[in-house]
Amino acid sequence: MKYTYMFDEANPDDVKLLGGKASGLVMMTKLGLPVPYGLVITTQACKKYYRDNKLPDGLMEEVRTGMHRIEEKMGRRFGDPANPLLVSVRSGAAVSMPGMMDTVLNLGLNDETVKGLAKYINSEHAALDAYRRFLSMFGKIVLGIKEERFNESLNKIKAKYGVKEDPEIPVEGLKELIEEYKAIYKADVGYLVEDPWKQLELAIDAVFKSWNSPRAKFYREANRITPDIADCTAVAIVSMVFGNADWRSATGVLFTRNPSTGENELYGEYLPYAQGEDVVAGIRTPRPISKLKEDMPEVYDELYKYSKMLERHKKEVQDVEFTIEKGKLWFLQTRNAKMGPIAMVKTSMDMYKEGVLTREEAVMRVKPDHITQMLYPRIDEANAPKPLAKGLPSSPGAVSGRIVFDPDSAVEWARKGEKVILAREETKPDDVHGFYAAVGILTSRGGMTSHAAVVARAIGKPAVVGAEEIRMDYSRKEMRVGDSVLREGDWITIDGFSGNVYAGKVGTVEPKLPREFFEFLDLADSVSIYGIRANADTPEDASIARKFGARGIGLLRTERMFRAPGRLELFRRIILAESEEERKSLLDELIPMLRQDFMEILGVMEGLPVTIRLFDPPLHEFLPSLDELISEVERARARGAPDKEKERMLARVRALMEANPMMGHRGVRLGITFPDIYRAQVRAILEAGVELAKMGRDVRVQIMIPQVAEAKELDYVVSNVVKPTAEETFKASGRSIEFKVGTMMETVRACLTADEVARRVDFMSFGTNDLTQAVFSFSRDDVENKFMSKYLELGLLPYDPFTTIDAGGVAKLMKMAIELARNAKKDIEIGICGEHGGDPKSIEILGSAVGDGLNYFSASPYRVPAARLAAAQISL
Ligand code: PEP
Ligand code: MG
Repeated sequence: MKYTYMFDEANPDDVKLLGGKASGLVMMTKLGLPVPYGLVITTQACKKYYRDNKLPDGLMEEVRTGMHRIEEKMGRRFGDPANPLLVSVRSGAAVSMPGMMDTVLNLGLNDETVKGLAKYINSEHAALDAYRRFLSMFGKIVLGIKEERFNESLNKIKAKYGVKEDPEIPVEGLKELIEEYKAIYKADVGYLVEDPWKQLELAIDAVFKSWNSPRAKFYREANRITPDIADCTAVAIVSMVFGNADWRSATGVLFTRNPSTGENELYGEYLPYAQGEDVVAGIRTPRPISKLKEDMPEVYDELYKYSKMLERHKKEVQDVEFTIEKGKLWFLQTRNAKMGPIAMVKTSMDMYKEGVLTREEAVMRVKPDHITQMLYPRIDEANAPKPLAKGLPSSPGAVSGRIVFDPDSAVEWARKGEKVILAREETKPDDVHGFYAAVGILTSRGGMTSHAAVVARAIGKPAVVGAEEIRMDYSRKEMRVGDSVLREGDWITIDGFSGNVYAGKVGTVEPKLPREFFEFLDLADSVSIYGIRANADTPEDASIARKFGARGIGLLRTERMFRAPGRLELFRRIILAESEEERKSLLDELIPMLRQDFMEILGVMEGLPVTIRLFDPPLHEFLPSLDELISEVERARARGAPDKEKERMLARVRALMEANPMMGHRGVRLGITFPDIYRAQVRAILEAGVELAKMGRDVRVQIMIPQVAEAKELDYVVSNVVKPTAEETFKASGRSIEFKVGTMMETVRACLTADEVARRVDFMSFGTNDLTQAVFSFSRDDVENKFMSKYLELGLLPYDPFTTIDAGGVAKLMKMAIELARNAKKDIEIGICGEHGGDPKSIEILGSAVGDGLNYFSASPYRVPAARLAAAQISL
């Protein structure tokens, strides 16, 4: 078996065999870049080493032959005192494991060769410095001598010569230090390794060993680097070049584009008359790469030309290390650059325009998470204190505000111009006015699909939910974490990216969306087979969603329209109405208000479909709580003045109470038993549509019925409510509009009978929040606080199915339902509007589970951009 390859004979694409670092060197060599010549010992040799517990037979002969070829090419000889070749012996597995394995530099130095080096680089000082560095590095890595032993001597010498930094040690001091190091070798291992060939053999052995060092093993485990990804290290033997040879020498690092802005410019720095470590050591200030253009214009031009060549070849921005030795440029390393999200988007767009990337490559290169990260203000990490508590990062963004503990105070304080954070144990629909007033939401209970989380995401407010260490005390208006107490009005900062909660104000930085952000998402849309709609309940949400590229509304939850100021009272009266007549006349009062809301939203989304879901929650949610009523009624009775109104309300609340309200009298069931509410909604929707149509506006109304479990429920609601109401409305207004009727798919039975359902509707939309709840029989509002974390810890579930769609169950059921539905009605419109519709990972899972079975994903406004990208990526 052949264990070694010269840089100009290996195949750079075989990264598993050569390791990442060597394959980069091979690739550059083959492209004709100036690379110090060298050879690579393959990962196969490493594996054989571990099988036999020794260097493979014949390896060193191959290395020797290879070294002679290096000597020829570089014009120097290994171990030659007059003109010595020195090499570095570098580790490198198929994936980068930064700093986890060992590398030996300046190998080949001894008392003789160091003199030749001094001559070559015109500096006895630099040569001796390289020698003492080599001795300590080799002693530590290859012979296992404790690092402190070398450090003790180093410190002693520095003290003796009164210097602070290593490079300040004078020649005399370096000579003494080298003698001390040699003495350490003798004392600790009993010998010196002066023969360069012996040094080389031992160094190769040590690099192989470092593959299984505890830190390397730990790193692989932590980063899930399994043997199929990387199974051993390769060893690159590379001739040393010297950036400290004279003033026409330098060493530097660069990115082929600016890694934070993405600007197309060489970005980096270099240090003349220096070796690699000096740049890092920070003793001398490096110069920006632009200065090289003035200092050494030819070298700069060459650097530019080759950097761009690398970028084109790798189709990726590169992070390059180089050295200039006596005016000649050498490339020492190249790898894909790590960049921030703004740079990722800009460089994708630019490289697409430049023809470096195809449209598909440009779209695939950015992660949906990058897009999300670009949208929200961020904590200024550099200046952040230690967090007070941690919850679930349920709606991204970082904000500071003053704590308030109830929604009314939030509104009141906000009116006075205060920035507030609404802190609650958990939230309920009644609290929503507080959400709008607050800049952020914090809860101590609840999960990723809890009310607080869903609403916060929907309206784009940062939220941290389920921060369980926090104890809320409403009566004292304070919250406690351990010994810390925060009171109403105190400042607090929440970070919806990390779930961190900080006491006090922590600085944030606002994002600026560059032009390329929008261009890039348009590019993504151009390859996408899916539409992206938004979950939006208000004109404001709808405008944001449209700005972010939503092609319509996939879910408009109408409930909140009944809670708006001034309407809740009216709606309570409707619920309590004693006669049908009374109810109807009260509803007539409500209809114009609802119509106005619909007109605004349909107007914002003109030309695009707006899917309006009829009333879904149980009615009792709109009445005061039972406890509250009981105490009020009892207090009034005790005063001897019973409150009739309150007593009636109490009786009604009692009548509406259910043991299991989320599976109770709600959605279509309510539409059937209290048809007047649905009638009023349908009328308001269609009147709004008609009115806009009369103004010549293009409206696309879709009416959606929730909680359907049996197809006949749809028959009933359509023929008793929707159809007759539409006919009446159109007749009364003298004009009709087209509209679609569809259903939510959020019960298991609706999915199992999707063919029957499909025959009755124009569209269906998976409500995967309720569907997940139903498929698992896990309560979506409680699960995170009770057992989810334990389940995840134990590996019983791979992830929280309320955040990312359950591939094994829910997605499977959806696939089945889609097949049933499409067999019954091929072109039926099918979408998803549960929270999963805005989760890129779920989109990816659904892409493989149901392919083009879905027509669109509907996401909260701020999740629309990332969903657009995720949907484009699964289209390719
Ligand atoms: C759902 O159940 O997935 C859904 C979108 O409806 P809601 O979250 O309002 O129950
Ligand atoms: Mg639902």
